[in-house]
Amino acid sequence: MEETAEELYFGRLDSAAAQRFQAHLRDCPKCRGINDGTVAMIEAIRGAAKHFERTKVAKGKGVVRSPMVNPAR
Ligand SMILES: [Zn+2]
Repeated sequence: MEETAEELYFGRLDSAAAQRFQAHLRDCPKCRGINDGTVAMIEAIRGAAKHFERTKVAKGKGVVRSPMVNPAR
């Protein structure tokens, strides 16, 4: 489950920042709770994306990333 979040979030951090974040998650229940919520959200989005990929709208466009996944940018 956590790998899904890693893929989407840590993929955008450099590895040092990703490691610091993971270490922080281990020590901080608050952020861990947020991360769990994030994972649940990403799982939900992935389910929707999988469905979307099967429709012809998505054809030829590759993987479409939901804007909800990167609210910070
Ligand atoms: Zn924290």
